[in-house]
Order: sequence, then structure tokens, then C-alpha cells
Amino acid sequence: MNSKRVLIAGDSIAGSTLAFWLNKYSSDETLVERSPSQISGGQNIDVRDAAFKVFERMGIAKEILAANTGELGIQFIDDKNRIRASFPANGADRFTGEMEIIRGDLVNILYDHTKNNVKYLFGKYITALDDNDMRVKVTYSDGEQADFDLVIAADGVRSKTRELMFGNEAELKYIGIYNVYLTISKTHTDTNWAKWYNAQRSRVILLRPDKDGSTRASFSFLSPDNNYQEFPREEQKKFLIAKLTGAGWEAPRLSKAIADSDDFYFDGVSQVKAPRWSKGRFAMIGDAAYCPTPISGMGTSLAIIGAYVLAGELSQTEDYSKAFGSFEKKLRPFVKSVQSLPPGAPWIVHPKSKWGVNILNTLAGAIASDFINGISKIFKGKPAAKQKTILCCLIINVWVFENFN
Ligand SMILES: Cc1cc2nc3c(=O)[nH]c(=O)nc-3n(C[C@H](O)[C@H](O)[C@H](O)COP(=O)(O)OP(=O)(O)OC[C@H]3O[C@@H](n4cnc5c(N)ncnc54)[C@H](O)[C@@H]3O)c2cc1C
Repeated sequence: MNSKRVLIAGDSIAGSTLAFWLNKYSSDETLVERSPSQISGGQNIDVRDAAFKVFERMGIAKEILAANTGELGIQFIDDKNRIRASFPANGADRFTGEMEIIRGDLVNILYDHTKNNVKYLFGKYITALDDNDMRVKVTYSDGEQADFDLVIAADGVRSKTRELMFGNEAELKYIGIYNVYLTISKTHTDTNWAKWYNAQRSRVILLRPDKDGSTRASFSFLSPDNNYQEFPREEQKKFLIAKLTGAGWEAPRLSKAIADSDDFYFDGVSQVKAPRWSKGRFAMIGDAAYCPTPISGMGTSLAIIGAYVLAGELSQTEDYSKAFGSFEKKLRPFVKSVQSLPPGAPWIVHPKSKWGVNILNTLAGAIASDFINGISKIFKGKPAAKQKTILCCLIINVWVFENFN
């Protein structure tokens, strides 16, 4: 690709990875980010498999590993603060990835490796796009205008740039769970283990260590889609505090932290299902194009891999529409498999009743212990379809038990 002018919306993991690679292939990139500076918020995310290989090729793998949160694994805690199950980071059933990093730290590393070659515009966003076949005329929120050859949306799951490009073509598929993330002060009860606590009424509190001496907290709960993310901040706080009431364990501490916090991240968890990822001189990557949700554990990895594949395709040809087409052809099957969430997700880990919570903790304890060897015999040697059937039967049993007890 010969020095094309490319505008990327979103100083995201996808956006800055794309900028890095396009720059290697000698194009001229501008990255526009709505917020006034990089967003250092967010909790632990993990970078898996092929995505880590991309970082190795970028020469930043060591930095990523050095920023590891040091999480030892995850423990299931009950209402008496007892550890019911432990899954170490290096175990077979790992929840903690090998490359566990705080989202903001990753955004900062990527910024450090692109800021000298990529033009960053903070504190504004695109308000209009006009693709006239020869180029795209872009209008920003401050009224300024500029021309680009290509515009790429990488501005996250609720991307406004996607709407400007594709209207409401993409479906936001809410999966039934809300999540709030925030950073809270570390106390003597916090360790280097992530702690997962289930409360009745389908509520989960998760506390995780970071490397900076704080604790990264999240609170999730099942709910119909009530658009809570659109509520004013003070109403969100009141709602979340009421929701945490009576949950037990660290709920009072979390409620106080929410009351005092200015920058928690609260959203309904949704997948993005888009019939196409490009149109004319527009394309999209990362959560904006194909968010699989944090439940998949693959949102960040998919964002990195997508950016790498798109940059690679653009580097091969002057024909951007051909490059967009082969990017989608290569990535779609992988996205499809990642977006098919495990059966029962997310309600299976958000039980309603005291019984349900007990069953989940007991099951987690069994899976974490040697008892799993016994259970695995049930599955051993069975074809994948049969394993799925057994798993579905187990889930149906738990569901029936939950709803009729
Ligand atoms: C603040 C924040 C906290 C998060 N915390 C977690 C977490 O704890 N755990 C987890 O699994 N996932 C979290 N995520 C999501 C996670 O980052 C993504 O699932 C994954 O990394 C892939 O994201 P992405 O690069 O596609 O976009 P994202 O990481 O979502 O980034 C999108 C970027 O675009 C910017 N933006 C939004 N609208 C516009 C616009 N109109 N114009 C320009 N810029 C815009 C946003 O400010 C943001 O910087 C968080 C995302 C954000 C934005």
C-alpha cells in the first residue's frame, strides 16, 4: 500500500495496534480519540495465543509480560469468607491467563510505541463522513474537516463511528448481564488471588490484584436490558448501591467505593453482530465490529489479531476493497467460533437462590479438586457431540433445580 492517509477512530487496543502495523507499511495514520487523554481504566484483560505472537513481532512482548498483574489464580469465596475452590494461574482450568495485564497499562504501552509516528488527536470525535469514491471527507466534533483515503472504526462496542458508516446495520445483542468495573483501595484482606463471590439474586463480586497496589473490582448481575448505561451517573450509583444491598461479603466496601468513584465503567454486556465489516473506504475492527463480550475471554485478543490481519492485507495490495474483503474472509470463521459462548453462559455462574450458590461453589470445589479425575471419566472417550449433550443435561438439571426450588 502506497502511503495512504488513514484515519482510525478510537485510541483502543485495536486502533493503536492497527496504527502500529500500518505505519510499518508506510502509510500516514491519524488516530482520533473521544476522551481528552488515553483511558487508563478497566480491569484485567488477557492476551492469548496468536495475539501474543503479534506483540512478539511488534517487539513489545517483554514489556507486556513485565506489566503482568501477578495474579496467582482465582478462588471461589462463600458468604462465610471461606475459600471453596482454587484455580491456580498455571492449572488446566485456568481463568487467569499467562499474560494478564490491566487494560490501561496495555493502552499506555501501545501509545508509547506509536506516539512518535502516528498523529494522535485527543478530545474529539467524528461527526460526519462523506465517502465520495476518491477520498473521505471527515468532519470532527470541533467543526474541523480533513480528507483521508480510508477511515477505520475501532471505537468499541457502542461505536458511533460504526453508525456513521453503516447506519444501524449491526445488531447489538445484549446477553443478559450488566457489569461495573472500578479501581478500589487495597485492604489487608486482598491477596494476589482473584476472588470470586456469588451472592443470591444472581449477583457476582470479583476482586483482582493489580501491580500498582490497588484492587480491581467488578460487580455483575443478571437483568433484562434496562439501558442502565444511559442513566445519569448519580442515578447509576444509587441503583448499583441498592443492587449490592444484602449481598454480603465485600458488598459494603464496594458500595462505598462506587459512591466515591467518578470513573467506573458500567455497561450491559453485548455482542456485536455485523453483516459486513467494510463498505467503500470504511472498515471496522475490534469490539466495534465483532465484540465477543468479556465472557468469551477473547475480546482483546480478537481486537489485536483483527488489527494485525487488516494491516497485513492492506500492505499486500493497492486495492483497498480487495484487502477489506480478504480481511473479513480470513477473520470471520474465527470470530464466529469465539462468539458462540459456552452453553448456559452467563446465568450458570450467576445463580439466583441460596441453593444455586451452594451448588455452584460445591461444583467449583469438585472441579478444582481431584474429584475432577472422576468426573472426567464420564466424558473420556466420548465424542464432542456426546460431551455437549452431557454438559447440556447438567445445565438443564441445575436450571430446573434453580427455578423450581
Ligand atoms: C474504559 C474501558 C474499560 C474497559 N474495561 C474492561 C475490563 O475491565 N475487562 C474487559 O474484559 N474489557 C474491558 N473493556 C473492553 C476491552 O477493552 C475490549 O473488549 C477489548 O480490549 C477490545 O477493545 P477495542 O480495542 O476494540 O476497543 P475499546 O477497548 O472498547 O476502546 C474503544 C476506544 O474508543 C474510544 N471511543 C469511543 N467512542 C469514540 C468515538 N466516537 N470517537 C473516538 N473514540 C471513541 C473510547 O474512549 C476507547 O478509548 C473496557 C473498555 C473500555 C473503553
